[in-house]
This record gives sequence, structure tokens and C-alpha cells, in this order.
Amino acid sequence: MENLLNNIIKSNKKYTNFGQVASYIPELKNANAEDLGICIIDKDNNIYYAGDYKKKFTIQSVSKTIILAMALMDNDWAYVFSKVGMEPSGDPFNSIMKLETDDTKKPCNPMINAGAIVTTSLIKGATLKEKEERMLAFFRKIAKNDNIKINQAVYESEKLTGDRNRAMAYLLKNDGVINGDVEEILDLYFKQCSIEIDCVDLARIGLIFANYGIDIETGERVISENVSRMVKTFMVTCGMYDASGEFAIKVGIPAKSGVGGGIMASVPRKMGIGVYGPSLDKKGNSIAGIKVLEDLSKQLELSIF
Ligand code: GLU
Repeated sequence: MENLLNNIIKSNKKYTNFGQVASYIPELKNANAEDLGICIIDKDNNIYYAGDYKKKFTIQSVSKTIILAMALMDNDWAYVFSKVGMEPSGDPFNSIMKLETDDTKKPCNPMINAGAIVTTSLIKGATLKEKEERMLAFFRKIAKNDNIKINQAVYESEKLTGDRNRAMAYLLKNDGVINGDVEEILDLYFKQCSIEIDCVDLARIGLIFANYGIDIETGERVISENVSRMVKTFMVTCGMYDASGEFAIKVGIPAKSGVGGGIMASVPRKMGIGVYGPSLDKKGNSIAGIKVLEDLSKQLELSIF
């Protein structure tokens, strides 16, 4: 397996030259565009890795899966889905358009920024601090890594430049889709995007979803079965931005990407996969990371379809 991963990383490294690191969040420009790494943890807890799997990066939109799981565990599902939809948007992740044109005024799904601002607003806690602590505790638990923390520089960079997200959040408040203090909701949103992880953390979290919410080592249920299923389904339909259809055809694995260059993939009942490659295509997906997953899926016959 290690040979296979090394070969896949080596043969796809060239694709890192065809994309660009995200720059609209200034701090993300510091990533090394040539990095490419992968980690796999299988259902027997075997761990395999190759390339730059130890590099730290911010989780960005991959966090949307975890926040959705939290929102669904904190609230009645009908209430959650009265505020955010279940359909792919077909638009870029930061699009504001459908918030205006859709009759419902609710974001299409929880995997786009507007939808994640809604799920973030549903996280329970008496104060912002308590919500942040609950959030970090949950990330640490499912990644099985107590050292997970927020990258302060990225968080500040996002907060300073996140006016598009701010605009969406105020629109959502105006339309009664979110309640409460908008700046606090945004603060929690920027913090969740700025959580620093590596490929191993992503593979661990991916494995929890792959294993329908049960921690493989301890047998503890950390996410309900139905919530795990829902999150994986959103990963299939909306996880790779407006390229989710093509990814489903070519790779066929539930996955979620982020503009930090991470992709978390969950092969049901088999494995969790974390990939890192900060050079992005035009839609915001890791350009070489997708190729790595395409090869892996073919060679190990991982497509769920
Ligand atoms: N923090 C990023 C934003 O809100 C997340 C985007 C992403 O990874 O898709 O713009």
C-alpha cells in the first residue's frame, strides 16, 4: 500500500503546477503550491501515508461537514432543514445570488458558505466562548488529536477580509434565516475555517464518517448513524463545490474539499482519506488532490457507485 501511495503522489505531482494557491484570504498565499500528501486509515486502524502528509494547513470548507453534524445533533432535523436546503447549488461556494432569487431565501445546502453560516448559527452554547470550546472539543474528539487548534493568523486574515461572507450573513439575518448576533456567528464561522489540521487528522475524521459515527478504536458512538449518512450524502452531492457531479463520476467517493487545499474522503465501511495539495483549480478544489483520489479510486476500486 505504501508503494502504491508513493507512486500515486509521484505521478500526480506535476498537476500542482497547473493550479494556484488561494489568495483571496491573504494568509493562504503562504502555502507551498508544490506540496502534495495523502494519509489513509482503514477500518482495521492501519495507517498509510505518502508525500507531504505531515504538513499543517487550515481545514477551511471541510469543516462544513463537521459543523453540519454538530448542528444536526444540537437541533431538531426539521428545524435545521427549515433553514438550509438539501440541493446542490450549481454555483460557486461563495455565491450570494440564490439567496436573493430563491423564494425560500434559505441557502441551497450546508456545504456552501451561506449554508455553513446557517449551520454555524445553530451550534448550541450560552456564550460565543462556550460555542467555540464545544466546537474545538468536537473536532479534537473526532480527529483523536488534542493538539488541534485555530491558526490565529489565518483567522485574523479571514475576519479582516471576509466581507462577502459578512454580506451573506447580514442578508440571512434580514430574511429571518439566522437569528442572533451576526458578528458572533461570523466569528465562529471564521474560527472553524481556520482550524489547523494535517492529512492524518482528515483521514481520522473521514474514517468516523465512513464507519457511520463509531470510533473504530474505542467502539464509542460519537456521531449518530443517520447524521453520518446525511453528511456523507451531502459530500457526494455538494462536497466538491460545483464540480461534485464530475467528481462523483470520476472518483465516486463521498468527499469534501476546502480552499486550504485539503480534501477529506470517506469510503463507507472501508477507510478515511486525507489529501493535501494547496494548488487549486478554478472551482477551489485541490487540482492534484483530485487526480490522486481518481487514481486511488481506480486502483483500489473504491467507487461506491
Ligand atoms: N473560509 C473560506 C471562506 O469562507 C472557506 C471557503 C472554502 O474552503 O470553500 O471563504
